Amino acid sequence: MSCLKITKVDCILTQPGCRLVVVKVSTSEPGLFGLGCATFTQRHIAVKAAVDGHIGPFVIGKDPRNIEDIWQTAMVNGYWRNGPVLNNAISGVDMALWDIKGKLAGMPCYQLWGGKCRGGAAVYTHAGGASNQEALDDVRRCMAQGYHFIRCQIGGYPGLAGKQPRPDGAPPGDYFYPREKLYQIPELFEYLRGELPPDIELLHDVHERLAPIDAVYLAKALEPYRLFFLEDVLAPEDLEWFANIRQVCATPIAMGELFNHPREMTPLIANRLIDFIRVHVSQIGGITPALKLARFCEAFGVRTAWHGPGDVSPIGMAANVHLDISCINFGVQEWAGRNALEYEMFPGTPVVKYGYVYPNEKPGLGIDFNEALAAKYPCTDENPTWTVSRLPDGTLWRP
Ligand code: MG
Repeated sequence: MSCLKITKVDCILTQPGCRLVVVKVSTSEPGLFGLGCATFTQRHIAVKAAVDGHIGPFVIGKDPRNIEDIWQTAMVNGYWRNGPVLNNAISGVDMALWDIKGKLAGMPCYQLWGGKCRGGAAVYTHAGGASNQEALDDVRRCMAQGYHFIRCQIGGYPGLAGKQPRPDGAPPGDYFYPREKLYQIPELFEYLRGELPPDIELLHDVHERLAPIDAVYLAKALEPYRLFFLEDVLAPEDLEWFANIRQVCATPIAMGELFNHPREMTPLIANRLIDFIRVHVSQIGGITPALKLARFCEAFGVRTAWHGPGDVSPIGMAANVHLDISCINFGVQEWAGRNALEYEMFPGTPVVKYGYVYPNEKPGLGIDFNEALAAKYPCTDENPTWTVSRLPDGTLWRP
């Protein structure tokens, strides 16, 4: 196999639930291929164009074993670098190359990175409701399924007060009132803490919906309720405000699902301003940069909490789980659940049992892909509407 080459790169779009982007890298060795996740669900067509027109042709003919060189050259070959479309395209190839590497070695990927350092990866699931009582009921439903880490929202990311009066001519959008969170969220967690066993771990995602000074207020107000972490309390545009939060409270902070380049996190990690990285692995370019980022975080006491909603494909989730199981500074894994069709379309998809997720023991990432089934579920092309968030007077806000 001394002259192993990449012979073909396919980018497949499918929608078994969320829109997913799958990359398949074939090689000159019959039957040897790898699968990667390139899912940027809101711009899936652009990622496919980047794979089909640029990244795929660039890597064909290269030795798939030279993962580092391929990642580095793919990242700079277009000269301008670092963006969500190209990073996802590169991730699709990168994960596939690690999948191939594991298959060549006859080992699950986590064995390539040092082996297991825990039995299973603890996951957190999502709960919520339109009132404190509904949220509590939903948390208890999750607990009954064995979850120990539970993210709790009230009214979803927008909250409950989106029905404030609007001015004449208010444009369409997902209306919300940010400052509602300053009283509603502390009241929610005070209520939950009064009702739940003390060892249940609770989390909350602000989704960058606050003005910076209000974010400082909320982090401080939530300190008595011992969150496992508070996520995206600030937007990537307001990073300097994390220092203000650190000065006033010890609420653990998670950040990073919107970051594109792993080094965007460097100041937050090196200055110990956050506690968990919430990176979307395909968004930063795949497993190769994620491994480096995890090791960098280890040196500064920052833990991993890789982004794991429904718009990470089962292949991407497998990559997360292989990282979770083998990195000493793992914190928790987001697990939004997978539907039955995804388990059928992606045989080998990780399973959750009583609050822990496990990789399977097959070589590589351990995931297969039923392309014939995927072809029966083509992607819809609608633009999302939830990303057009507006304040009560109609002003656009970050989603
Ligand atoms: Mg989030």
